[in-house]
Amino acid sequence: MSAPNVLVELAREDAKLYQLRQQIASLPRRLQELEEKRTGLERQLQETEAVFRRTEGERRKLEMELQELRQKRARSESRQSALTSTEAYQALVREMQQQDSRIDALESSLLEAMDRSTQAAARREAEKARLEAETLRLDGVRRQLESDLASAQAGVAAQQRLRDGLIGALEPKTRALYERVLRAKGDAAIALVGERKCGICAALQPPQLLQELRGGSAANLRTCQSCGRILVWDPGVQSPS
Ligand SMILES: [Zn+2]
Repeated sequence: MSAPNVLVELAREDAKLYQLRQQIASLPRRLQELEEKRTGLERQLQETEAVFRRTEGERRKLEMELQELRQKRARSESRQSALTSTEAYQALVREMQQQDSRIDALESSLLEAMDRSTQAAARREAEKARLEAETLRLDGVRRQLESDLASAQAGVAAQQRLRDGLIGALEPKTRALYERVLRAKGDAAIALVGERKCGICAALQPPQLLQELRGGSAANLRTCQSCGRILVWDPGVQSPS
């Protein structure tokens, strides 16, 4: 393999290694996003549960009020026969009428409260089912991500061996530069240039630099002005005329 070909080959392997490392690096964040999604759903379920508990509390309170009022009404009725004066009797009849209308009003409020409670229970059940289905789905996504991570990590080791073999074929001066850039970047030291961009960081390169790379006229290796990686022209790209 001639020197430029080794560089091109090395750039291709570096690009693969770079992608694998990016994939590995993005995984914790993606897992974190899944976890946040699940927490959000759990919070929604808790909210619907709180609404249900509140509506149930209101319902029970109205039931107790109604029960008390009905007992009062019964006591009023039992006092009726013992009264002797007309005035006292009429006063009791008015009191019983007031009690009846309050009982009526309470009964309607109770019916409405029961309605609200039934609706809140249905919403809570729907939310519970949604959380269960979403949890299953998220678990599947997480398993997929974890298996992607495992194969990316296995790929890195194999890819690294491939790259080490190519580094050995570089001439000493080029190899020294390559290793220096690699130490600085940690992932890939060399990038292919096609479409006027650095193949790794995607920064646009100045026309003069592109011309030198394309023509192979540069006396020394050139580096990306943005990320500092060594640049080589991608022979697979048609140069624009
Ligand atoms: Zn770059």
